[in-house]
Amino acid sequence: MNRFQDKTVIVTGGAGGIGEAICRRFANEGAHVWIVDSNAELAQSLAQDINQQGGHAAWREVNLASAADIFSFISELKSQTERIDVLINNAGINRRGALLELSEQDWQTTFSVNLDALFHMCRAVLPHMIAQGGGAIVNTASQWGLHPAPGHIAYNTSKAAVAAFTLNLARDYAPDKVRVNAVCPGEVRTPMLESNLARSGRSLDDLNALVPFGRIGEPAEIAAAIAFLASDEAPYLCGSLLEITGAQAVA
Ligand code: NAD
Repeated sequence: MNRFQDKTVIVTGGAGGIGEAICRRFANEGAHVWIVDSNAELAQSLAQDINQQGGHAAWREVNLASAADIFSFISELKSQTERIDVLINNAGINRRGALLELSEQDWQTTFSVNLDALFHMCRAVLPHMIAQGGGAIVNTASQWGLHPAPGHIAYNTSKAAVAAFTLNLARDYAPDKVRVNAVCPGEVRTPMLESNLARSGRSLDDLNALVPFGRIGEPAEIAAAIAFLASDEAPYLCGSLLEITGAQAVA
């Protein structure tokens, strides 16, 4: 499939576990992918690898907690490309803790990366999408934003806000043909999840056993759903929150 031939696609958190799969998926389908991440080393090596395999990728080190960083990235991007077809707001952080365990700093940092970055990124990108006659935005929320897992109040609340933000943006800009949707994954097998497992003493088999489908999700499966939502195959999907969980309930 070449659903994104020569389209410009921004992927925030593109150097991370799910982000890498998203970048590869869009690049494999012909897109010019902009990998936006604070981890310059990983972003650069992913871009090199995609380009070596015949795809098109560029990377920029951007601190998504900074509105100034975001606006300067978008203004640089606009000096190099006419259109911004797709924006994937995928970056996110997960600071653990119930209310009385969590620091105020962790609360604020969580909201600045998981929510405020979407506010700034969408404000920077939307005027261009509107001017060009439309576009697609997909946000990575979480199943935990809809059904909270215990002991993650900042993360869960920020992801609930991402879901609400998605619905609001979709409603306000559907008349401009900007389609806005979100994915809400359950647990996904990323390097970060595996290292957290090692710390907690639980195994991947333990997690897999909790999922009716028999296993947790793979990054490529989340990327496939995101690509579908962003593609012309989903022209009337606007304001949807897609749960990708293998039928797992939050325990
Ligand atoms: P990850 O930690 O592997 O990737 C996140 C990426 O975001 C990293 O590359 C990191 O450098 C980048 N990032 C973090 N803060 C940043 C900042 N201030 N500026 C720029 N970049 C920043 O995590 P992941 O598992 O790939 O998660 C991707 C998204 O999926 C997140 O929004 C996460 O909440 C969501 N999600 C993950 C899971 C899961 O089980 N892995 C489940 C549901 C939702």
